Amino acid sequence: MRAAWSVATRPRSLAPVLAHLSPPPPAQALSWHTHHFLGLQRCLLSSKPQPQPLLTLAIESSCDDTCVTVLEKDHGAGRGAARLLFDKKITSDNRQFGGVCPMTAVASHTQHLAGMVREAMRAFPDAGSKGTRDEAAGGNVVWVDGRPRRKPDFVTVTRGPGMMSNLSTGLNTAKGLAVAWGVPLLAVHHMQAHALTPRLVSALEAGRRERKQTEGQPSNQEKELDSTLTPTFPFLSLLVSGGHSLLVLSRSLTNHSILAEAQNIAIGDMLDKCARAIVPACELASSSNGVMYAAHLERFAFPDGPSDYAYTPPPTRAEEIKIFDPALGWKLTPPLSETVDMSFEFAGLNGQVIKVMLENPDMGLAERRLVARHAMRLAFEHLASRLLLALSKSGVAQEGEAGDRTLLRDVRTLVVAGGVASNRYLMHILRGILDVRGYSHIELVCPPLPLCTDNGAMIAWTGMEMYEAGWRSELDVLAIKKWPLDPHSEDGGILGVPGWKNVEETTS
Ligand code: AMP
Ligand code: ZN
Repeated sequence: MRAAWSVATRPRSLAPVLAHLSPPPPAQALSWHTHHFLGLQRCLLSSKPQPQPLLTLAIESSCDDTCVTVLEKDHGAGRGAARLLFDKKITSDNRQFGGVCPMTAVASHTQHLAGMVREAMRAFPDAGSKGTRDEAAGGNVVWVDGRPRRKPDFVTVTRGPGMMSNLSTGLNTAKGLAVAWGVPLLAVHHMQAHALTPRLVSALEAGRRERKQTEGQPSNQEKELDSTLTPTFPFLSLLVSGGHSLLVLSRSLTNHSILAEAQNIAIGDMLDKCARAIVPACELASSSNGVMYAAHLERFAFPDGPSDYAYTPPPTRAEEIKIFDPALGWKLTPPLSETVDMSFEFAGLNGQVIKVMLENPDMGLAERRLVARHAMRLAFEHLASRLLLALSKSGVAQEGEAGDRTLLRDVRTLVVAGGVASNRYLMHILRGILDVRGYSHIELVCPPLPLCTDNGAMIAWTGMEMYEAGWRSELDVLAIKKWPLDPHSEDGGILGVPGWKNVEETTS
């Protein structure tokens, strides 16, 4: 079974996803015996003693979400089951500003973060009463509400990219925790975390399978015990969020090449702006999604969900760049239709939509719905167009790109992550276009909704993978507002910034 949800199987409501992903009951609810029983089962299954799982507490505060997560993972780079022991997010209310106000978000981080950390500590695994004094003496225990709990092996935090003051709130808290507990700090890249999220999903799936085994549910297949992380490298990702529109080729944990990026505004930003122009204000005001107006745009465009799509994927590039003219006195032209530049351009389409709405202030609901559907369609087909260009290059020799070519030919998975990935029409369009243009072998993988938008679990996971690869952060690291992901960028990508050390290189 695939570890991450494919489009076809993605549940509509969040509840089943959360229940499915859900960690075992919080640690405080598990008895000492349960923990030791789980440990014993693991040993028996693999017939040799297993080291204690890795444990991290992670903080994400790059924008308006304050997130704290506790994640546990079995040892083994490239494999291993994981369990979410605590995962909480508080989003600051920025609705009165019509977008994220950095100072309001910082105030919310400052108000909530410490309390969330205290709450998260209650989810650290029980250190048990037996041997507690020894463990405390050895420094592996923290006392929470008078009870001994396992101390995290390291603290993970988002270092960038993002808003400086927002990032610094999380970073300074994480540094304090790392110093107080005497454990390493892992200050990681937010977009790397989005790209790695499907591997987290696969580890959580392995954790769920493992729990089934220990609970004695029938499952004899060897495969059930396989905890190889998927997708394996190389894979492609569309990272589409409020601040980013990136097509990324991920070759390894730290090597993520940008194949296309936005020339100006990000797709999420464009959809949010379009939503504010298209969706009647009274409907937007009732939005339960805060300033994620684009989520409302999707609901407004397709009130009955996928049954309304009636979408025919363009079989050729010529069809794909056709101007949309509904004969209502306005038209929408697909972005960058005259070029095959490897970049995304959303400001132009946004401008067209705003102009249509300004020129037709009395537009009725049905026509507004039409604008919403086709604004989304053109934006999503534009994403697909650059994906197709990248894939078609895999057969063409280009100077200096020999490595890329080979790897693109090997790609079997397209990950779609970031807040915009929660749009089901986007996934429908991508699947349709890949199929009709000869790439039906490429699997489309999208993390479940709560892991698509910013979250602490993806940061914790990135910490796990980086920690296992030997990486640690120095305590003097600063937050980074702009931190290119690509190792070929001027700054050298994830590892190009100062503050990393590799303990494996140092000791070898
Ligand atoms: P992120 O920056 O990854 O936290 O994602 C936030 C962005 O995703 C915002 O621009 C949201 O409006 C956008 N977003 C959230 N839900 C949807 C949706 N259903 N369709 C399109 N965009 C969405
Ligand atoms: Zn993000």
